Amino acid sequence: MPKFIFVTGGVMSGLGKGVVAASVGRILRWRGISVNAVKIDPYINVDAGTMNPYAHGEVFVTYDGGETDLDLGHYERFLDIELSRRNNITSGQIYLSVIEKERRGEYLGQTVQLIPHVTDEIKKRIFESIAGHDVVIVEIGGTVGDYEQLPFLEAARQIDLELGGDVLFIHVALVPVLRTTGEFKTKPLQHSVAELRRYGIQPDVVVARSEKPIDSTTVRKISLFAHVPEGAIFNVYDVDTIYKVPIVLERQGLGDYLASRLGLAKSPEYGDWEKFVQRLTSPKFTVKLGMCGKYVELPDAYLSIVEAARHAGAALEIKPEFVWINSVDVERDPDILRKLDVDALMVLPGFGVRGAEGMIECIRYARVEKIPFLGICFGMQLAVVEFARHVGLREANSTELNSNTPHPVVHLAPEQREVETLGGTMILGNRVVELVPNTLAAEIYKTTSIVERHRHRYEVNLHYLPKLTEGGLVVSGWRKDVKRVEIVELPGQFFIATQFHPEFKSRPTRPSPLFVALLEAARQTRQSSISLA
Ligand code: GLN
Repeated sequence: MPKFIFVTGGVMSGLGKGVVAASVGRILRWRGISVNAVKIDPYINVDAGTMNPYAHGEVFVTYDGGETDLDLGHYERFLDIELSRRNNITSGQIYLSVIEKERRGEYLGQTVQLIPHVTDEIKKRIFESIAGHDVVIVEIGGTVGDYEQLPFLEAARQIDLELGGDVLFIHVALVPVLRTTGEFKTKPLQHSVAELRRYGIQPDVVVARSEKPIDSTTVRKISLFAHVPEGAIFNVYDVDTIYKVPIVLERQGLGDYLASRLGLAKSPEYGDWEKFVQRLTSPKFTVKLGMCGKYVELPDAYLSIVEAARHAGAALEIKPEFVWINSVDVERDPDILRKLDVDALMVLPGFGVRGAEGMIECIRYARVEKIPFLGICFGMQLAVVEFARHVGLREANSTELNSNTPHPVVHLAPEQREVETLGGTMILGNRVVELVPNTLAAEIYKTTSIVERHRHRYEVNLHYLPKLTEGGLVVSGWRKDVKRVEIVELPGQFFIATQFHPEFKSRPTRPSPLFVALLEAARQTRQSSISLA
């Protein structure tokens, strides 16, 4: 049986509890401890796939096609592991399966209740996700005090009772500063710990989340009121990159503390994490990366893409400066693209008609002006639409945007035509993609076979390929299991677009080759514009 670390959040959401949970995992990994991580989301949706990105941020796709919370992305990047759909548990999954069991008669004769039936189901799910690891970190989403969270706290309390010393609770809570006096205020944290105790949970570790480093008086106060020894109080203050958080906590001794509490004391080996952070935070060059999409008011909607660009930047010692371009604004005024003066352009994933023409305009601009371009998923489909219009199919479109288009160059994938329910039914997760030799894609990946993750319903219509390739479009990647277009590019310029999502497999020290190539191309653009000036 592994050891468990439950991570809860207090006072308010948005404190970076997921980053703390992921950092705890990183710290244990430095000690050679094998770690798995589970995110619990108390909402009733079965998965994140049916939510609006504005409400929830990016949907992170696992290798096995899970549409999960974006915290799983933090876990994969910080722990350098691949997680499964089972690593994201929601209330929706729990209630669905309890109710289905009740209908099948599996609880015959019993009154089915929150305790024990729902809590048993939660525990079963948690235990199912743990095989073969020393430690499992379970982050309980939401804020202590939320109604929806209660069954999960209760299940965690029961696991603690059953496993005794092998369970630790880490509570992450805000410690605000009162501006007028400059004082750290611990009362909200005290109340959230008191609330946690009401459910029978005493935190073992408190992580105080603050703007600036807290002082020793504050630590003493937290210790007294939260009933946690001073040595078990840690502090995460604002830092310039989330990748510093494990270092901040490690320097305060969290790693040794956890390892000794869990009886896993081993000496740490930091590998190249610090070097990565060093390169990330002291770049030698900056490039302006235009990011065109329709959800840009909330950059979390594209979190893995942003992180993938940062990883690639660290490898090249280039800082990508993100220039967010709302595609709806481009529709109103295409000239804004010229004014932004970007060194490279990305057209981002998305759904639906709003803002799509603005994305197409961005693609046209990148193609005509020969600005390095990377399109992802919707960005690739729209690149095909744009190119089709360019080679004479003036009303070409995706049937997602216009079901009556005379030239449906992008259409619903055949198996998607049978789909009647929308939850979890896209083309999801890993597929093998074969790269065509002597193309930009093959040059970038330095191989001819790759595995990348997917999330789409529409695809390039093969019927139009002859026309498109005659016009100069190159198909440089094909799905292996069925004949589907995965990558398109244009010769003679850096213009490449993928049906798959390369961002999900990018890691801090193993960046995605596509992002590295894009930033390198952006640097060349910038350098040549500097030398022309
Ligand atoms: N809307 C497109 C599709 O469903 C693209 C999806 C995406 O960008 N993830 O195929």
